Amino acid sequence: MILRPLLVALLGCTCGTPDEGPALPPLAAPNMPDLVLVTLDTTRADHLGAYGYPRDTSPVFDALAERAVLFERFVVPMATTLPTHTSLLTGTWPAEHGVLANVEHGGRRFVPSPGLRTFTSWLAGLGYDTAGVVSAMPLSRATGIARGFRSWSQPRGTERPARITTNRALGWLAQAPSDRPIFLWVHYYDPHNPYAPPEDAPARFGGTPEPALDAWLDARAPDKVAYRPTGERVDLQQAVDGYDGEIRTMDGYLGQLLDALDEARGTRARVLVVAGDHGEGLNQHGEPGHGQVWTEHLHAPLLVLAPGLAPRRVPTVTAAADVLPIVLGLVDLPGEADFLAQVSGADVLAPGFQERPVLSQTSERQEMLGRRLRYARTGPRWACHFGEDIPTRLYDHLTDPHELAAVDDPATAQACRDAGMAELAVLAQRGVELGAGRTVDDLTDAERAALEELGYLE
Ligand SMILES: [Zn+2]
Repeated sequence: MILRPLLVALLGCTCGTPDEGPALPPLAAPNMPDLVLVTLDTTRADHLGAYGYPRDTSPVFDALAERAVLFERFVVPMATTLPTHTSLLTGTWPAEHGVLANVEHGGRRFVPSPGLRTFTSWLAGLGYDTAGVVSAMPLSRATGIARGFRSWSQPRGTERPARITTNRALGWLAQAPSDRPIFLWVHYYDPHNPYAPPEDAPARFGGTPEPALDAWLDARAPDKVAYRPTGERVDLQQAVDGYDGEIRTMDGYLGQLLDALDEARGTRARVLVVAGDHGEGLNQHGEPGHGQVWTEHLHAPLLVLAPGLAPRRVPTVTAAADVLPIVLGLVDLPGEADFLAQVSGADVLAPGFQERPVLSQTSERQEMLGRRLRYARTGPRWACHFGEDIPTRLYDHLTDPHELAAVDDPATAQACRDAGMAELAVLAQRGVELGAGRTVDDLTDAERAALEELGYLE
């Protein structure tokens, strides 16, 4: 056992092994189901076949969607990796959990609200064996996102491809105890910039006429050329081809992961959630990347597969904070009411659920880029964008789902903004009560370099 810390020190890698973490507590109940969360970084919902994309980017996801509940309007709280993942694992909004960027303007790290538990920590207390396998530095252990995971695996450098992440997950699954339920979170990062599918990608896109794709793009009115904040030029066709190739590659590894789950876990009951953390601009509204509140940045894929859950498509606007209540509405775990007491989201599948608009915001990184904070409030029909320094913009998603032209309706716009500001004040007040807002200056030189490489630090 002395060897292991030595190996970790030498390899600089905390790759998952069976002897990591604290001893497992007794099981809180018999027959608790396996829970599996797969997150797809930077994956726009509308670039997947199940959401109507004309290219064959996602055969595995699409086949899953046929058997699952597919959420057609999953809206993330921030088009930024760490804040949205923190929402997914706590059931709260960024103003509550306090993680307002991958890293703060100025290089300090946000500390998740000490008054919140993660889903992982709670499951670990029930006797779940827990493993997290992530692909990029913004989700490093030091951010607090790893709280409760008994086994943890993250890249040694900035990021790693789905091939390696899947191998790590399969390695953990092969030794996971068969007499205990598991909570496994696997995070894929491939579609994030740079868009460079591997040599052995299962499909390459581009180079042939694609009238269906051209029409699809025309409907969204992207710029042929746009520029990242770094000044990097982004050519639309090249970006879309590479981005789609990355999604297709990631999708293939998702298939490998699902096959391995079936093999390793047999007939044990399982709830599977596949969720995006945010979209990508791909030159719409002049933005190549993500981080803004345009719908193409906020609309991500979400599906849930569970025993006895009839497949269907759900048009309800759904938030990241809703995912845990949805899952806990499908299973029966001891003490779940106690955990749900911290959750601000809702089970949108529950009978009688009243659909409501979902609040999103930009990250504090925008201030580093010289931009003011922006908010969006997305409802079944209207989405408004507002901020301190802009007139409120109102979009009608029934007639203009890609937000091409603001609607001139000052009364509706003002009502949307006022409601959004009131909701934000409630969330911020709860954040204060939970201890949100603390930052620490603990980035290592390697992390600082990695975050700079990803464009998250100056
Ligand atoms: Zn992300």
